[in-house]
Amino acid sequence: MTKHFLTTMTTAVRSMLSARGIYKSFGTNAVLRGIDLDVAPGEVAALIGGNGAGKSTLVKIVMGIYQPDGGELYIAGKKNSAYKPSASLAMGVYLVPQEPMLFPNMTVEENVIIGFSESGRTLRKQMAEMLERLGWQIDLSRRADTLSIAEQQLVEILRGLMSRAKVLIFDEPTSALTFNEASSLFSTINELRKQGISIIYITHRLTEVFEIATSVAIMRDGVITLRGPVEEFTREMLLKGLLPPDVEERSRHTKTGAPEYEKLSPVLSVQNLSGYGFYDISLDVYPGEILGLAGVLGAGRTELVSTIFGRDVVKSGRVFLNGRDITGFSTDRVLEAGLNYVPEDRYMQSVFRIVDVAANTSSAAFGGMSKFFMNFEAERQLAQKGIDDFRIKVTGQDQLMGSLSGGNQQKVVIARSLSTSPSVVVLDEPTRGIDAAARSDVYATINALKERGVAILLVSSDMEEIVELSDRAICMYRGSINHCFEKDRINQDNLMAASFGIYKGEAA
Ligand code: ADP
Ligand code: MG
Repeated sequence: MTKHFLTTMTTAVRSMLSARGIYKSFGTNAVLRGIDLDVAPGEVAALIGGNGAGKSTLVKIVMGIYQPDGGELYIAGKKNSAYKPSASLAMGVYLVPQEPMLFPNMTVEENVIIGFSESGRTLRKQMAEMLERLGWQIDLSRRADTLSIAEQQLVEILRGLMSRAKVLIFDEPTSALTFNEASSLFSTINELRKQGISIIYITHRLTEVFEIATSVAIMRDGVITLRGPVEEFTREMLLKGLLPPDVEERSRHTKTGAPEYEKLSPVLSVQNLSGYGFYDISLDVYPGEILGLAGVLGAGRTELVSTIFGRDVVKSGRVFLNGRDITGFSTDRVLEAGLNYVPEDRYMQSVFRIVDVAANTSSAAFGGMSKFFMNFEAERQLAQKGIDDFRIKVTGQDQLMGSLSGGNQQKVVIARSLSTSPSVVVLDEPTRGIDAAARSDVYATINALKERGVAILLVSSDMEEIVELSDRAICMYRGSINHCFEKDRINQDNLMAASFGIYKGEAA
């Protein structure tokens, strides 16, 4: 069946990207085992698959970062013979990075044209034409550090188009975006598609597949197991394709020891809370517990936690922290009461890339960067404590944040959240966009928090992460709690089904 789709799709139109029998191993680990993939002009191909399926490896081969062990790759009919980033770029492929990397103190225009050899005048003319053609409204004179993540992504897309990209690759681009920003990215992608650009769109959110893609490819264990036009699939079919074949068996557990939490009183208790984007949410988090909060983009999770943190308006319901009613408190007072929040977007909201580690580990304790009159010595002591406690690898306190690895940056942010001695820490997508090794480091940091008795509310779109870390897990779906799973019921299939609103409950 897979073969059939492939042949009908490739003979009908010329492929912008064509992968033929791509193989790649790392040591004895065969990561790609014969990938055939064709993407036509104007096609938006969603590439989905669990962690470790090989998606990023495939993309890195296309980008010329890795050399395949076997197989061939063609871009617009031209064979790639040198796997080098510069060669791939010249052939017309561009990866829109997950974490936009702009120069914060330069304007949009400067960020777009930097690194091209043509004259500024020529480039500005090209850029104006391109914006005109796409109908984009973007203020070229704005400084990059005033842009939202979504706007930064637009600048990255512009850079890609300026390099005359024919194939644009997005690797989970919406994980840092709000609902509205994601919608506007989708309309951008639609415009690009109409211009005949080919798009590979990596996501683990099935809703997005149906919203934006024209075709879908499912990868599992280094092979494409399902491929075809999006109209031929339902959500259930994709879900089934993503899960290992023996799922039915695995999900039949017997209930193990009941959790002891009932004997304790919750540190954080949310009761029938409603606000913008969520309705009637009740949940409790206990000392030393990690409560996972799963769900897809737009399910209302970030809205919920930022409301608890005093950033948005409570419509009804109550929030208690250590028994104290903190409903409607300002962020400063919530912090003071003992709840800290590490937001999803660590670059813009939490880490100031240009400042050093010391300022970052301690800035929460001093009310942020706006306070100029910090107690310098106290700040350094706090920073050193954070660095020691979490074994953050730095050359010294004054190492610039931007030069730390993703995992270490995130550890700095988590350490920073502790500087106010909170009893509850809310972590929003703590490992988004960092590699596997760094991820396990961050997990160790989170577990260290748990061991200190801190109650942790873990918001994550990464089902594996929820499974790995959570003691209990709640799924949100369209603004409400769809299901709460006890430890022994937390598995990827249950979480995924509940996140997509198709969880049918326990059979027994
Ligand atoms: P995905 O993006 O689908 O989550 P990846 O392509 O990142 O999957 O990883 C596929 C497999 O390849 C994983 O088992 C991963 O550990 C392994 N892998 C990826 N990059 C490397 C590398 N540079 N060295 C060794 N193993 C790697
Ligand atoms: Mg990946």
